[in-house]
Amino acid sequence: MQIKRLKLSGFKSFVEPAELRIEKGLTGVVGPNGCGKSNLLEAIRWVMGENSPKSMRSGGMDDVIFAGTEQRPPRDFAEVVLHAEDDDGEDLDVMRRIERGAGSAYRVNGNDVRAKDVSLTFADAATGAHSPALVSQGKIAQVIAAKPTERRQMLEEAAGIAGLHVRRRDAESK
Ligand code: ATP
Ligand code: MG
Repeated sequence: MQIKRLKLSGFKSFVEPAELRIEKGLTGVVGPNGCGKSNLLEAIRWVMGENSPKSMRSGGMDDVIFAGTEQRPPRDFAEVVLHAEDDDGEDLDVMRRIERGAGSAYRVNGNDVRAKDVSLTFADAATGAHSPALVSQGKIAQVIAAKPTERRQMLEEAAGIAGLHVRRRDAESK
């Protein structure tokens, strides 16, 4: 799977609608402190189904919505659209939208889906919110210091078999 475009609106510091093209190969995000580099990476994780506020550096999920500044009023929703191409060359459009106090909704190619469907789609494609393809600040040090079980989880995510564990856990709890 290859991420082609990312559209953000009202997500953290990306208050005005913004669109980014992501080219093939390795992409680095550079810029001065506080310009939104980490927010951008978090937007990619978020649209892929990340649900831990801590990994979004937030207290609650509503904190990803633009909170306002002295000059600008806060927004009441945040939306991120990820456009990708899967390994068969098929287009994949994933949208996540959160409204203040109302939680998240997801759409894949225009159809309403569950959060879990989105997470599994990305897990099967060896990508997703915890994908080793997304390298954030401090991550290299974390890989070096990881316990064997944690390192195994990273390798399973890289190999695209993480989704199988989710399905097995599901099946066992039924
Ligand atoms: P560094 O180089 O220091 O790591 P960075 O480029 O990664 O910086 P980010 O952490 O992505 O920067 O962006 C921080 C900015 O985003 C801060 O100015 C912060 O106020 C702003 N921000 C975060 N969440 C929100 C929000 N919900 N509403 C408005 N602004 C936000
Ligand atoms: Mg940062």
